[in-house]
Amino acid sequence: MKSVVLSNGVSMPRLGYGVYQVTKAECEECVLEALAAGYRLIDTAQSYFNEEVVGSAIRKSGVPRQEIFLTTKVCLEHYGYEACKASVEASLRKLKTDYLDLLLLHQPFSDCYGAWRALEEAYEAGKVRAIGISNFYPDRMVDLATFARIRPMVNQVEVHPYHQQQEAKRWNDKYGLQTEAWALFGEGRGGVFTDPVLLELGEKYGKTAAQVILRWHLQRGVVAIPKSVHRERMEENLDVFDFTLSGEDLARIAALDRGRSAFFSHTDPNMVEWFGRMVEERRERQDAAGETKNR
Ligand code: NDP
Repeated sequence: MKSVVLSNGVSMPRLGYGVYQVTKAECEECVLEALAAGYRLIDTAQSYFNEEVVGSAIRKSGVPRQEIFLTTKVCLEHYGYEACKASVEASLRKLKTDYLDLLLLHQPFSDCYGAWRALEEAYEAGKVRAIGISNFYPDRMVDLATFARIRPMVNQVEVHPYHQQQEAKRWNDKYGLQTEAWALFGEGRGGVFTDPVLLELGEKYGKTAAQVILRWHLQRGVVAIPKSVHRERMEENLDVFDFTLSGEDLARIAALDRGRSAFFSHTDPNMVEWFGRMVEERRERQDAAGETKNR
């Protein structure tokens, strides 16, 4: 698998496999299939509630741990120094590993500075090979990159042909952060898989619209982590290293940018409120579960 080199010298595969919205029941089989198909980067998160299953699949796969680039993300309810530190240990336990390749802060809210100090410490202790952030838009990213002791190495943000994040990518490049795309197909929203321009380019190279999108990410230097629960699509999404989009093709894709999220903006105060409510609800559920257990 071809790699990019992060600012700290660590190699990261340019293409990986994401397990958001892969149910617990199907996740083990999916990760086994993805590893068998040739993926060597697995992207999970504490908030996907499938870290244990991902860890079991990696163990069962027989692929040596050092060949796999394993990413997880710290969820908001574990922000702040102490909570984040404890959650990193829990993620390591659940993923059945003594180190992570990449650990990200999932959202740019709450006490991310305290949480970042826990990530810096885990990095210096050798528990994590690289640390980074997710959904930090340029102002938040520059703030952390400027004032933190250790600068983040990766920023994982929504990027797809309808939301190309030109400006965010420029800022990530300026500060030496690798841009990694989530929803790199926009989860298919807006009809991206049947977009006439992408279909036409696919026809030109004997590829699907999905493969054209992946190739576009690779040629922009963006790491992509497509999710699919289907083996044939996992393979299709890896089969993108035998063609090159021309400058003219890239310009046509650039013109598809709608300049707005297919989901929501992390700079929308309504969404920050929504995240606040979600954290509160999860805490209440956890407290209720604890009370039931203690009774
Ligand atoms: P994607 O843009 O990867 O789209 C996934 C969808 O596309 C699924 O419905 C899948 O269907 C379909 N699909 C996959 N391959 C093909 C293909 N070749 N042809 C047609 N359809 C296809 O969305 P995600 O939101 O899953 O993003 C990818 C990963 O990014 C996540 O799994 C997660 O790891 C990460 N992520 C991170 C976030 C963050 O906040 N940091 C937020 C969201 C995601 P099917 O499975 O049925 O094949």
